[in-house]
Amino acid sequence: MAKLNLNRTEMPRQKPEVRAKNYNEVALGYSREQALAEAERCIQCPKHPCKAGCPVQVDIPEFILALRDNNMEEAVRILKSKNALPGVCGRVCPQETQCEEVCTLAKKGGQVAIGRLERYVADWEREHMGVVPVKPAQPSGRKVAVVGSGPAGLTAAADLAKMGHAVTIFEALHVAGGVLMYGIPEFRLPKDIVQGEVDYVASLGVEIKLDSVVGKLITIDEVLKNGYDAVFLGTGAGLPMFLGCPKENLNGIYSANEFLTRVNLMKAYQFPEYDTPVRIGRRVAVIGGGNVAMDSARCALRLGAEKVYIIYRRSEAEMPARREEVENAKEEGIIFKLLTNPKQFIGDEQNNVCQMECHEMELGEPDESGRRRPIVKEGSEFKIDIDVAIVALGTTPNPLIASTTPGLETGNRGTVVADEETGQTKKKKVWAGGDIVTGAATVISAMGAGKRAAADIDKCLRNG
Ligand code: FAD
Ligand code: SF4
Repeated sequence: MAKLNLNRTEMPRQKPEVRAKNYNEVALGYSREQALAEAERCIQCPKHPCKAGCPVQVDIPEFILALRDNNMEEAVRILKSKNALPGVCGRVCPQETQCEEVCTLAKKGGQVAIGRLERYVADWEREHMGVVPVKPAQPSGRKVAVVGSGPAGLTAAADLAKMGHAVTIFEALHVAGGVLMYGIPEFRLPKDIVQGEVDYVASLGVEIKLDSVVGKLITIDEVLKNGYDAVFLGTGAGLPMFLGCPKENLNGIYSANEFLTRVNLMKAYQFPEYDTPVRIGRRVAVIGGGNVAMDSARCALRLGAEKVYIIYRRSEAEMPARREEVENAKEEGIIFKLLTNPKQFIGDEQNNVCQMECHEMELGEPDESGRRRPIVKEGSEFKIDIDVAIVALGTTPNPLIASTTPGLETGNRGTVVADEETGQTKKKKVWAGGDIVTGAATVISAMGAGKRAAADIDKCLRNG
């Protein structure tokens, strides 16, 4: 029997001092030799717990085996049969808390780098095969409308099209992809990768109607009256939350949503070549500890800020951001001010933000989220000089759909109530999944929800 190899193959990356000044992708991807070396480490264990750890149930050992056997077309086929967005997932999925966490080799600290192999296969397909047209399915004669083209909507649309249904995606923005396009920066997820995977979904026969805000242009009831047999809502959670502290409306204070949309979708980092400006601060404070905060901080740094602070009210152990992204941010020189929370912003005579007053915090007993509750240390106030602040505290669903769709039940913070297994909402013929149901979560959980809803829609349409 071959000896267990517990050494993960490192991913080559741009050097911190170089990448902090450009928008090119940080992680450079495996070479063929590196991918084969990593694939060799998978022991093809009979119970393959990795599969159950994947919310879209990718046949992980099978695609790794095909890669190892140098049967790349087969590796692509296996991967794409379950996952329409492998290039995206291979880059941004938190594998460390999913398939890789439960990999048999994880017990010995050497889990297979499944995400990196997934990325290798997806990139190989793009470079060697392009978007491969898929044989159209036998038409079912049924029409499904998908609202929103983020990971939930794209996954539901791809699966439904493969099942033979005529699918139309209604997308509010002028490009498809949701957060993958407007939120996650180019240096983590290049936009041509996302576009390639959107094109793949379109190649399955899915019609994508851009600039179509459902709830304004057309309501869900009108969509159903127009001959659609079912609607899947995948409109995400795009409404930013704020601190609610004094002077939060000063000039120079952005929500992370606005800041990242300007930088990524509208390409403000290439201003004036692209005509959306963004304020470039010398000293920037980003408030929050998730992926959105890390992305905002690293964008601000690349725009030319001299000092970028992450202000987070708990300790590093409680940070929801991916470990890998926290490490990347630190290597690039982002300054972490932990156990710190803003008390108020301070402005100059022109109402531009110039300082932030903060409290030091300490951790108490765990709260309802299971994390230790941050408590203000009395008398610990101090000030930081800043000229831009970015608030990255999380998002909730935009109320537009719920307020224009009678019969749709909403729950905590405007999320739409839907069955976890089937995606069925309380309104007949309407399903929902992704961040609109869970609140801000992950790409793969949104994809899993899209997949489960597609299976249930198909079942209901076939059973009349
Ligand atoms: P979204 O991606 O939000 O897509 C919803 C789509 O619906 C959008 O295109 C929107 O324009 C459209 N829409 C909204 N309202 C309407 C309407 N009325 N009519 C028509 N269309 C509408 N997750 C990870 O797993 N890993 C990461 O590294 C990661 N990093 C992130 C970084 C940032 C900056 C952000 C913001 C999120 C990050 N996430 C990450 C979270 C992840 O991106 C989301 O959980 C995921 O995109 C949710 O998918 P979704 O399809 O539910 O919604
Ligand atoms: Fe390979 Fe790990 Fe999956 Fe086992 S659990 S099949 S070792 S990737």
